[in-house]
Amino acid sequence: MSFDLIKIREDFPILDQQIYNRPLIYFDNAATTQRPRQVIDALTRTYSEYYGNIHRAAHFLADKATLAYEETREKIRLLINAETREQIIFTKGTTESINLAAFAFGEAFIHEGDEIIVSEMEHHSNIVPWQLLAGRKGAKIIVLPIDDEGRLELEKLESLISPRTKLIAVTHVSNVLGTINPIKKITAIAHSRNVRIFVDGAQAAAHMHIDVQDLDVDFYAFSAHKMYGPNGVGVLYGKKELLEQMPPYQGGGEMISEVKFSGTTYNELPYKFEAGTPNISGVIAFGAAIDYLGNIGIENAAAWEMELLTYATNQLARIPGFRIYGTQVEKSGVISFNVEGVHFFDLGTMLDKFGIAVRTGHHCADPLMEHFGIQGTVRASFAFYNTKEEIDVFVEALKKVISMF
Ligand code: PMP
Repeated sequence: MSFDLIKIREDFPILDQQIYNRPLIYFDNAATTQRPRQVIDALTRTYSEYYGNIHRAAHFLADKATLAYEETREKIRLLINAETREQIIFTKGTTESINLAAFAFGEAFIHEGDEIIVSEMEHHSNIVPWQLLAGRKGAKIIVLPIDDEGRLELEKLESLISPRTKLIAVTHVSNVLGTINPIKKITAIAHSRNVRIFVDGAQAAAHMHIDVQDLDVDFYAFSAHKMYGPNGVGVLYGKKELLEQMPPYQGGGEMISEVKFSGTTYNELPYKFEAGTPNISGVIAFGAAIDYLGNIGIENAAAWEMELLTYATNQLARIPGFRIYGTQVEKSGVISFNVEGVHFFDLGTMLDKFGIAVRTGHHCADPLMEHFGIQGTVRASFAFYNTKEEIDVFVEALKKVISMF
């Protein structure tokens, strides 16, 4: 361990509390992470020192806020190694990033009879916008299946691609299975057939180093709230040549160049896609989250999360009737499970009484649930601030809960 866990935990005020007279154990990090003091302070500082509406302003506060907002854009460019800042578009989250791309890419490139490949392990956010697009354009959704270990059946991808295939939408990391998909390989297959690739990075960006140029992806999306940053902020990265050809997603505010009733012209990238007053303070505080993550070191965080995953998996696997969904070696710190004879909702509710926060249900991945023939699972998901002691308490509590049924 090259980072100080005790010191790290002190940075997260929310973790230091009792729930039902027990120390809080927060294992719902795949839904949303918690924020360090540095991010909370950045929010407070923005509102108390230099808040103003960004861009086009001639006064000090707005200039300072604009500078800080644009600084975060540059931090993100560096974080994911994008070629230019114009390719970093701020949204309100992964879901909006996907909707933006599905609408604008769809307007420019999708026609009746075209096909979009979507994997079976996608979050609803990376399914429904493509279905809406398909509905609008008369296009077709083709499903890339998974196997029972939670692995994409990539050997089938080549044969699913037809001359009408325009795009593959796939997650980098499954929010249910934890499976880390081989994006570089999928991109190579897609590009060899002239197909574009959209990657949902919601579960990846805080847990691994992302290099969009190395991955060669056409689009990549993620949310700040899963990266120790504020909620209500997200990013869409896109290849410049595509973004330039895509029409605006929403109209108004910053996205215009000139408005006339005879015809409106649009602003340059990235502003063409940032209509209205954005989440100014959120974006600025996202910069603080990126700095925080950078100081910890994303590789250090990932290594610790892997250690927690292995430690927990080894203990949980010994519980009779315990089944884990997602048993790939290439996996992030997510454990989705069921216990024979006990409903996932009961498990989650009882664990809460032990102060342990996990998620239960379909995790916004109905097709994945259908694949396994289940209604839902319990999901424990780890962040770098979690400890092995917390896992010990979790395992013991789980055993107690199971024995009650
Ligand atoms: N994709 C995946 C894989 C996710 O886990 C989530 C969040 N659960 C989303 C998309 C949607 O992210 P958001 O709610 O931040 O828009």
